[in-house]
Amino acid sequence: MPDIETLLPDAIKEVHAFWLAGMSCDGCSIAAVGATQPSAESLMTGNIPGVPKVNLHHPVLSVYAGAAFIKDFELAANNELDAPFVIIFEGSVADESKAKKYGGYWSGLGAREVDGESQPIATADWLARMAPHAAAVIALGTCATWGGIPAAIGNPTGAMGVADFLGDGYRSTLGLPVVNIPGCAPQGDNFTETVAAVLLFLQGIGPLPEFDELGRPAWLFGETVHRGCTRAGYYEEGVFAKEYGDKQCLVEKGCWGPVVQCNINQRGAINHMGGCMNVGAPCIGCTMPGFPDAFSPFYSTDPGTIVSSTISRTTGFMVRNLRKFSQMYLNKTNKWKKDGKVVSGWGHVRSPNKLEKAGHYFYEKMQFSNGVKPGVRKIN
Ligand code: SF4
Ligand code: SF4
Repeated sequence: MPDIETLLPDAIKEVHAFWLAGMSCDGCSIAAVGATQPSAESLMTGNIPGVPKVNLHHPVLSVYAGAAFIKDFELAANNELDAPFVIIFEGSVADESKAKKYGGYWSGLGAREVDGESQPIATADWLARMAPHAAAVIALGTCATWGGIPAAIGNPTGAMGVADFLGDGYRSTLGLPVVNIPGCAPQGDNFTETVAAVLLFLQGIGPLPEFDELGRPAWLFGETVHRGCTRAGYYEEGVFAKEYGDKQCLVEKGCWGPVVQCNINQRGAINHMGGCMNVGAPCIGCTMPGFPDAFSPFYSTDPGTIVSSTISRTTGFMVRNLRKFSQMYLNKTNKWKKDGKVVSGWGHVRSPNKLEKAGHYFYEKMQFSNGVKPGVRKIN
């Protein structure tokens, strides 16, 4: 098979990814390096067919420090880099004018000479200078996408999301507004998969990935937590956890899953392991723009739950019992049905009573009303 250079002589060999951290706990960095599908390593070594090698400039992961580390940031900010680049922003963007009043800064990267003194460079300044030349700006995590915890009510630093900082008119050199991958912390694969998809588009061999009206990858954030939850069957049957550690639906323990857009239950936290409800935690809405204030106080039953769980309890009671009834017959072989008893050395299996037998008779009538019952010969 021909290699990528033969198929695409103009293929981009390498892109730079500049990692900037604002008001951040570094959890997004941890999530990104924990990704497995694809892994950060496979992006950085150029092991994914068609995807250019990613030259990552990360303040913690880089082997360079000081001026040697900052050099490429300066080239990118001056639009003098010899390869395309993307910006990955972790944490919210603080309003540095508030800190400047007191001669300080909120979050910085590198230093420059000011009036003969070395002064830190705010990451907000880097973002403002570099974003106009970037092929894409990716806001990673809820702080970078929507403001998150630093922008909770009170917000002494004036923290905001990247899109709020750059404005809704912002477009990258590829014509993209800010790409938003929320989560506190975000699911790592959601990030690496989106980076790979954007890079395939940049390479000209992939379609523009679909983003929703808030700039989230639509294929990752289109469904609610609840729709992919392993406990959703309990919700439907109106059975709810009373204590943490119970296996049933957590809605009465404060779970917001029915309305929150997040795929962690299906994808797991890392390498298909974990994920909030999978490990017993109610959803606190960490991917949503309203987080954290709209979901507080955490772990308490939200007012809408009383309506929905009461409806589920009522309909669930009937559904649950009808299913138990069906199960009674589905757990029988044809022989056991014919003999009228179940052969098992493991315990006594109750036989259906007259009412259940009558119910099953009518159920079977409906089941085969449009088809032929197995074992019954159809005479034309
Ligand atoms: S635990 Fe939450 S997400 Fe899961 S079924 Fe219950 S309400 Fe839905
Ligand atoms: S399930 Fe809820 S709390 Fe858990 S990651 Fe998703 S949005 Fe956040």
